[in-house]
Amino acid sequence: MANLPLLTRGDAGARAGVVVVGAGLAGLRTVAELRAQGFSGAVTVVGAEGLPPYDRPPLSKEIFTRPEPVWLSGEGYGELDALADRVLLGHRAVRLEAGDDGATVTVADGGRRERLEASAVVLATGAEPVRPAGWSSAAVLHTAADAAALRARLVPGARVAVIGAGWIGAEIAGQAAAHGCAVTVVEAAPTPLHRQIGADLGARTVPWYAAAGVELRCASPVTAVVDGEVVLADGETLRADVVLAAVGARPATAWLDGTLPLTARGALPVDAAGRVAGAPAPVRAVGDCADMEVPGVGLVPGGHWDGALSHPTALVAGLLGADVPAPAAPYVFSTQLGHELAMVGAPVPGALLVLRGDADGAWTALFVEPDAAGGRLTAGFTVDRPRDVGPLRKLLAGGARPVLDLARATDPAVPLRKAVA
Ligand SMILES: Cc1cc2nc3c(=O)[nH]c(=O)nc-3n(C[C@H](O)[C@H](O)[C@H](O)COP(=O)(O)OP(=O)(O)OC[C@H]3O[C@@H](n4cnc5c(N)ncnc54)[C@H](O)[C@@H]3O)c2cc1C
Repeated sequence: MANLPLLTRGDAGARAGVVVVGAGLAGLRTVAELRAQGFSGAVTVVGAEGLPPYDRPPLSKEIFTRPEPVWLSGEGYGELDALADRVLLGHRAVRLEAGDDGATVTVADGGRRERLEASAVVLATGAEPVRPAGWSSAAVLHTAADAAALRARLVPGARVAVIGAGWIGAEIAGQAAAHGCAVTVVEAAPTPLHRQIGADLGARTVPWYAAAGVELRCASPVTAVVDGEVVLADGETLRADVVLAAVGARPATAWLDGTLPLTARGALPVDAAGRVAGAPAPVRAVGDCADMEVPGVGLVPGGHWDGALSHPTALVAGLLGADVPAPAAPYVFSTQLGHELAMVGAPVPGALLVLRGDADGAWTALFVEPDAAGGRLTAGFTVDRPRDVGPLRKLLAGGARPVLDLARATDPAVPLRKAVA
């Protein structure tokens, strides 16, 4: 799909250039793609955290073994200072005014304010952790600063209550238990990862907790967190030295203050090129702050590393009027409680689960919609079966839903691509 260019590659001197709001993975990748795709005009990046871009997944998976931030420049994703003309770290965007001819971003650095003019604005503000009202004594884990503070408190013998058995809660619980902490995970839903993979598959992860030395309590909603205490709905109180709220994240869009349309979860609704539905053309969004409409699939929530990595390629192509590549399949990975997990695609409610592999060892669950010719693949969840991840990503790329021969798909010895009907 080609589209009208908002920017031209070389002749940007006459225009105001690009302002990227957010200096995380999506922000850095956007700047790197602008340069890689030939844009030589002015690029300004505004980042609230005051740190160069770093990687978040190690914060929960390697909290004890990688105490320094894992800088994205060191991982080969580019040096922000070298790629952008102006990098304003420790500055927060507080206001956006946009029209069809361009946009203005107001940034604040303490009491000082500055207005940045832009031909295009890329919103890459990511997400922020949810901390329910009244839980002010609970820690959260989202930034390098959060990880440093948590690391100092997760000493061997500490009693740790993790609220939420989602991706991050499970990861940090396993790390803390291996480090000698006495860890209890409390989860409101009937199983871990209930929202992400459903009850059937979530139930399969339950034994991993005990095996890792973590006590798990599902169907245990928390009604209050007071200093050192977690109060459960049944009236029981857990005492803890450290309480971690791992109950999700929400898109960091509050600062837009109603100026742009948002999805139900507060994200910016975008297409594959990052164009925001209902917003002027100069405004684009990418990464955790955006939900992407994928034809044939529907609205795919942001919130995963791979989207922040790969979607800027299409966004920049769209800005420069080049063909916009189809989006990769949604892809989430997690290392938790001694297992390597991957979720590929967007599971549809009510899909049939087809298992391949050894249910007590390495396995893959395929989410299929029954079809006359077999089953239409919509998503796949792998546990310690990395060999299925690449094929799943290929089969589901661009919103594709191939029909599988289910007899072949359930045979773990048959490569997945050879199970396509
Ligand atoms: C502990 C942890 C572990 C994770 N593990 C995994 C994993 O295993 N697999 C996976 O797929 N995903 C994982 N994720 C999610 C993944 O890290 C994110 O999807 C990814 O970081 C998103 O990148 P982003 O650039 O969109 O947002 P972010 O990384 O959140 O970066 C956005 C940046 O914008 C800044 N910002 C926000 N508002 C403003 C403003 N108004 N002005 C200026 N700057 C602003 C923020 O301070 C932040 O630095 C994990 C996340 C966390 C927190």
